[in-house]
Amino acid sequence: MITNLKVLLTHAKEHKYAVGAFNVYNYETIKAVILAVKEKQQPAIIAFGEKYLANMELKEVVNLVRTMTTDLRTNIAIHLDHTKSIDVIREAINAGFTSVMYDGSELDYEENVKNTKFVVEMAHQAGVSVEAELGSLQLGTDTNEDDAEEIYTDPIQAKDFVERTGVDCLAVSIGTVHGLYKGEPKVSVERLIEIKEQIDIPFVLHGGSGTPLHIIERCIDNGITKINVNTEISYSVVQMISKLVQDKPNSHFSQLSVAAVDTAKNTVIKYMEMFQPNK
Ligand SMILES: [Zn+2]
Repeated sequence: MITNLKVLLTHAKEHKYAVGAFNVYNYETIKAVILAVKEKQQPAIIAFGEKYLANMELKEVVNLVRTMTTDLRTNIAIHLDHTKSIDVIREAINAGFTSVMYDGSELDYEENVKNTKFVVEMAHQAGVSVEAELGSLQLGTDTNEDDAEEIYTDPIQAKDFVERTGVDCLAVSIGTVHGLYKGEPKVSVERLIEIKEQIDIPFVLHGGSGTPLHIIERCIDNGITKINVNTEISYSVVQMISKLVQDKPNSHFSQLSVAAVDTAKNTVIKYMEMFQPNK
């Protein structure tokens, strides 16, 4: 069933697990996430960012997901990841996305509050959930996200932000990176605990790729209910394809496509299993 983020994350928060938000950009990645959901019978979030509008149109994402999930009983959400444009958010809501992330992290604080509040009012009227972000994540390797200064989320500001905007969940910056880690991950669970002492809503961890299981478990214990995975899905597929093409330079594209679905599915399942540490 296709539902919104609030439904998914409320259940996850109650039962102490995290729902994986897996980035998709084409047929292969969408198929991979849906096959993983069917195999594991665990909820997941199909995430598509405005960065990938060159790959697919919003309506195409929704229609493809709907076509592939007519018999699906497990809950999923169709989520618009990292989007700075309010027009794109409006378009996604009209196209049938059930959840959106407004990324005003580059704006000054008051402007971020004002725009996020506007997005929340627009989205909630359509039954669509809203994620926002405070602070910003550093860049690791192999990522497709924008470079940013690492700014940890301020707990007091987070409380003010949530109260004034009415967002359904908040992405926090506590040391994970967009991309693969350059060295040892330095994630501050202590900062997460300080934020949790101020506000009691579902928290989102961006930069799941490569984050060790013991850190993920501590994050889930302290309120993280959604974990984004992008880089490793792409990385695993590109590695596999480059090896296949090296071994067999005249590979047919159709064979590469089938192999890509399988590899992406295995990466998604690996993270799904990490996000359900108590099961
Ligand atoms: Zn992110």
